[in-house]
Amino acid sequence: MELYELNLRDAIAGLRDKKFSASELFDSCKARIDSCEGKIHAFITRTDSTPQPCANPSGLLAGIPTVLKDNLCTRGIRTTAASKILGEWRPPYDATAWKSLKEAGAILMGKVNMDEFAMGNTCGNSAFGPTHNPNDISRVPGGSSGGSAAAVSAGYVPFSLGSDTGGSIRQPASFCGVYGLKPTYGMVSRYGLISYGSSLDQIGPFARTVEDLQVIMSVISGHDPMDSSSFRDRPHDFSRKDDFSLKGKRVALVKEFQDFTLDAPIAEAMAKTRKILEDEGAIITEISLPVVARYAVACYYALAMSEAHTNLERYDGVRLGYTVKDAPGIKEMFERVRSYGFGSEVKARIIAGTCLTEPTRCEEYYVAATKVRTLIAQEFTRAFGETEFILQPVTPSLPGKIGEPEEDAMKGYETDLYTLPVNLAGLPGLSFFTGYAGSLPVGLQLIGPRWSDSDLLNTGIILERHLGTPKIANGGEC
Ligand code: GLN
Repeated sequence: MELYELNLRDAIAGLRDKKFSASELFDSCKARIDSCEGKIHAFITRTDSTPQPCANPSGLLAGIPTVLKDNLCTRGIRTTAASKILGEWRPPYDATAWKSLKEAGAILMGKVNMDEFAMGNTCGNSAFGPTHNPNDISRVPGGSSGGSAAAVSAGYVPFSLGSDTGGSIRQPASFCGVYGLKPTYGMVSRYGLISYGSSLDQIGPFARTVEDLQVIMSVISGHDPMDSSSFRDRPHDFSRKDDFSLKGKRVALVKEFQDFTLDAPIAEAMAKTRKILEDEGAIITEISLPVVARYAVACYYALAMSEAHTNLERYDGVRLGYTVKDAPGIKEMFERVRSYGFGSEVKARIIAGTCLTEPTRCEEYYVAATKVRTLIAQEFTRAFGETEFILQPVTPSLPGKIGEPEEDAMKGYETDLYTLPVNLAGLPGLSFFTGYAGSLPVGLQLIGPRWSDSDLLNTGIILERHLGTPKIANGGEC
């Protein structure tokens, strides 16, 4: 077995017991990256030409290599959000989540690919070209955190961080065959995360076992004075609970979703997982989420685009990143910077967000969407009075081919139906591996009420025991 194949827990134990050194682990991961990266293209910026110094040799993650989605700020290291508009910007500060990892001793191998400003679900909306799915390099890794999922799946690093605004951790985790947690809103500081939709964005981890997600959550969760939306008074215990049981716990399927079609392997995974939950003593029930099923997609996109248009206003060529020097006036300069700097999906969303919040239309669209969001949150609160967890797909289909003729945007948006309601209500969602359909992994999703992250992960451990742990993907034959 090569060192790069170790999951996080075993890598920590091996280093602690001096079975190998941090530099041997680093070299193994770097060699793996060197041999696969030509085919996978997960990186935007590599920082592994020489080992970065370990900030805390006695920390929990001392010497553990990792990568970060390129919308997480890294002090002095180029951070692009996969956009041309940020140019060669090197943030003057670290995102808190990265600072916590660094203080625990983690080593940064680089910044990885994503859809520009986290808008998309293929990793194909990147100014740096697409990332390939390590299980089948003709297919997309999912998005927007496609590079973070691909890096863990291909064995570059045992864990990574991404962000999830409407599914961007859970969907690529399921497409690449790794585990991904979208934490409860407020569980992890968003300080230093380049904003897309601030009321929806949340940072979370990817790993090849559920227990490894627990380890990372124990490091990155908690209150941060730099993010007023991070919660105080929520000390969280992410340790593994071996006595955790599903006996008597209710797991609901969503009534309205039963009428929607799913690819056969996903429907089979639902049936298989349901049976495992029953064997573990859980009670399978049904809940009704009519507002979610009917309005969540429209509500999410109205809010996400409205917030994005405000958040992206700061990229004007004056304060940050890319600029032009020879424009005849300030208006022309803005126009040139933004025309060149933003990709087409980002432009479309900024324009839509501008229309949705324009004073004469604001009531009808943006304000209406905030009201629908409240109804959606209430619908979930009611549902979680009747069940502990909800089991549902992550996506209706398995990953598509890279460069497939661009489907109409609305259809792409609709495939986010199973993930984005979780962000609207601030809930935690776990994307877990259920097995393979040919070469492609099949993932599903478990959702719980706010602050149930730890229970979700302990349930995930039980599921992993039955469903098996994913293998390191070698679709690139590297
Ligand atoms: N696909 C969704 C969007 O484009 C979600 C993206 C995300 O979670 N960042 O908005």
